[in-house]
Amino acid sequence: MSLDINKIYISYNQLHDIIRRTVQRTNLIEKFSPTLLIAISAGGFLPTRILRNVIKSEMGGKSLPIQTIGLCLYESDKHEIYKTQWISTDSKNDPLAVLFSGQNILIVDEVDETRTTLSYAVKELEKDIEKQRNLFKENNEEWIEPKLGVFVVHNKMVTKRQNLPKDIMENFYFVGENVSGKWIVYPWDALDINEHTRLAENGQTINKLTISSDGNN
Ligand code: 5GP
Repeated sequence: MSLDINKIYISYNQLHDIIRRTVQRTNLIEKFSPTLLIAISAGGFLPTRILRNVIKSEMGGKSLPIQTIGLCLYESDKHEIYKTQWISTDSKNDPLAVLFSGQNILIVDEVDETRTTLSYAVKELEKDIEKQRNLFKENNEEWIEPKLGVFVVHNKMVTKRQNLPKDIMENFYFVGENVSGKWIVYPWDALDINEHTRLAENGQTINKLTISSDGNN
């Protein structure tokens, strides 16, 4: 396997470093104080797990809870999305339901390409939050408005098809690295991890467009 210059290879070590440096560089803890992580399946799994570790080392206390949502893009021209997995939000009937009140919810994915997935995730969570807010108010229960933020390892500098709310983009959009539109090969995509790591290390200097230009620093 040789280095394909049309791809960006990321090693486990690079992934780990990007996430740790991003938390520090963006002052994520001071700015957002996350209380709940939501991993978008399946690319968000490992970044979320690593992120939780970094957050714990910076914040102290218990490890943050991780919830998972599954989203899939239809292979059509419409770029529609459907849910394959979602969190329980029915606080009335389900003891495992997520209680949003007072939470600072950080949605985590590996890459923001067209922003379709992230935009859908935020919109659907906002709908769930609204339902829960209404229920709490009907029952005269105290409600503290939750905050939503987004963490991505890579943001591709390509034309976006969807947007995120202004508040997220201006304040709570945490990006590891802004990169070109090339295909990113993550370590979990590799079959031969030693070869993949070698390609990632060789490609390191060739591929990165910009670093730390996410407006969060
Ligand atoms: P979106 O276009 O909605 O921002 O991204 C959709 C999904 O496509 C991402 O969550 C990610 O799983 C996948 N994706 C987009 N670009 C890349 C890439 O360069 N590499 C990999 N491995 N996945 C990608």
